[in-house]
Amino acid sequence: HFYLLTQHLQPPLEDTSPTVVDPDGRIYIRNWQGGILSGGFEKNPKPIFTEGRNQLEIQNLQEDWDHFEPLLTALLRRMPSLEALEILRLVNCPEAFTPDMRCVMGESPTLLHYFTLAGMNSQGCSLGGGAGKFLAEWMVYGYPVDNVWPLDVKRFGALQSSRTFLRHRVMEVMPLIYDLKVPRWDFQTGRQLRTSPLYDRLDTQGARWMEKHGFERAKYFVPPGKDLLALDQSKTFYKPDWFDIVGSEVKCCKEAVCVIDMSSFTKFEISSPGEQALDTLQYLFSNDLDVPVGHIVHTGMLNERGGYENDCSIVRLNKRRFFMISPTDQQVHCWSWLRQHMPSDSDLFLEDVTWKYTALNLIGPRAVDVLSELSYAPMTPEHFPSLFCKEMSVGYANGIRVMSMTHTGEPGFTLYIPIEYALHVYNELISVGQKYGIRNAGYYALRSLRIEKFFAFWGQDLDAFTTPLECGREFRVKLDKGPDFIGREALLKQREEGFFKRFTMFILEDHDTDLDLWPWWGEPIYRNGEHVGKTTSSAYSYTLGRHVCLGFIHSNQQPITPEFINQGEYHIDIAGQRFKAKAKLYPFSSLFTLRRRKDEMDIGF
Ligand SMILES: Cc1cc2nc3c(=O)[nH]c(=O)nc-3n(C[C@H](O)[C@H](O)[C@H](O)COP(=O)(O)OP(=O)(O)OC[C@H]3O[C@@H](n4cnc5c(N)ncnc54)[C@H](O)[C@@H]3O)c2cc1C
Repeated sequence: HFYLLTQHLQPPLEDTSPTVVDPDGRIYIRNWQGGILSGGFEKNPKPIFTEGRNQLEIQNLQEDWDHFEPLLTALLRRMPSLEALEILRLVNCPEAFTPDMRCVMGESPTLLHYFTLAGMNSQGCSLGGGAGKFLAEWMVYGYPVDNVWPLDVKRFGALQSSRTFLRHRVMEVMPLIYDLKVPRWDFQTGRQLRTSPLYDRLDTQGARWMEKHGFERAKYFVPPGKDLLALDQSKTFYKPDWFDIVGSEVKCCKEAVCVIDMSSFTKFEISSPGEQALDTLQYLFSNDLDVPVGHIVHTGMLNERGGYENDCSIVRLNKRRFFMISPTDQQVHCWSWLRQHMPSDSDLFLEDVTWKYTALNLIGPRAVDVLSELSYAPMTPEHFPSLFCKEMSVGYANGIRVMSMTHTGEPGFTLYIPIEYALHVYNELISVGQKYGIRNAGYYALRSLRIEKFFAFWGQDLDAFTTPLECGREFRVKLDKGPDFIGREALLKQREEGFFKRFTMFILEDHDTDLDLWPWWGEPIYRNGEHVGKTTSSAYSYTLGRHVCLGFIHSNQQPITPEFINQGEYHIDIAGQRFKAKAKLYPFSSLFTLRRRKDEMDIGF
């Protein structure tokens, strides 16, 4: 980080002089002993470790006027009279940046009671007070008093700590400080680190990629003949240029069949020679896992306060072996939570099998036809009920874990495929699927489908301070399952006393998709003109032809009841303009192609 110091002005600047920020010029200007301190965040920062410098060299970094020149030009354009002022020094000092421009705080996943707060991305003065408070609470109480998952050190793993990755990524991060961050923006550096075996195959078919926890995931597929360049520069707060493409993928999911590569999910296996695996999971998860072999259970991994540490699907593979599927960025957090809370029993085996399986989500009414042809097995709901898992052969490949869930509320299956079979199974699906109208789809279609069905997403809608009761998921908690579980007492208490926030779905009523700014997330929610919360995610529902926002309504005075929700008039504020919204506590049943039991509703990761 470069900044210059000048001689004091005549008269000297007051201590109360404001700090000036010029994002276009990429500079800030502030008082320093009556003179000016001005630095900036240039487009081409110099990474410190390029030449493997040691600590002493870092302390004696040299000034570099050529490098500082664009910032100096911007400073003189903004304050021309500075030209006559003596510059005392150009300082070149090290600053710490992180791979996602958010600081790193919390307890180490590998070393208990070791806490960190670092990587302030040049915002340490502004953020120091709050960050320090959260960390102090974390150390004293065992957790901070608000959700700080976006800053938690456990959002990263060893994969983000390679020097080359960091060097490239932080060079991209630093200039962002003064850039406008548009929705759904993706980093360009440090990419293609973790990929599915199908990456090249999907890439040549027009996949446009986003990254999660280092893993490349297809956002959507550009059809041949579209203007690729324009689509890569989809930087807008308004209707984006992928709108029609995603719309056609959604349509295909509704009417035919689509395949989405969802290999980035975190996958663990837990097993034991005796009952230890079941006993441990019953204690760590709120739903009842003592189900017949082959059943899939959606369940929360709760903390003592009843809040979601994780939201997963668990498959009982056999009496003593379980397969756990969690959101992609849970890989470090979930592992460390399980290790901390599992008994130190040498007969209990926990394995991270994320890398062993490719996950293909086959969504749509014709999924059943495609799989029946490939497996020679009846796949209809009578033979293959919802939320069920069977090991089957698909094409030539044996041992594919076929699961009747799609994370979207649409009919279909997710296939967990040993990676060496991934290409074969994918090719077979596409080849057999031709006559059923199969096509590739990406995460944006998935997102639209899950949001219109009111499915919550951990890390975005759900966090460690949200309980299942607050998001209408009582049916995923078995308070009377027999064995005690973490969070049970808090949930019993909350059931007694009521809750003061409620996850709600909003349908925007007078919003023009073509002309108005879109909601993305974080928009204020108003009830009868009073601010009551904010949205946590939103998407355009191609089926409803409206925008759907999900978010929390809070109440300070009275517990929230369905009447409280229904009696309000709601508005969502998008960049200062309020749009009328209809609040709902249940999804439109007409959106579900098949009739489903309430407890069969999927979660979206
Ligand atoms: C010119 C300039 C202007 C800035 N302006 C702003 C601003 O306007 N707003 C803002 O929010 N932020 C600003 N920042 C950024 C802010 O100063 C940093 O983000 C913040 O100081 C970082 O805090 P930290 O505690 O992580 O690290 P540091 O402040 O660097 O503290 C680390 C400490 O650890 C000590 N240390 C190092 N090695 C060891 C060791 N081995 N053993 C023991 N101790 C050790 C160091 O001596 C140091 O005291 C500015 C920075 C600069 C350089």
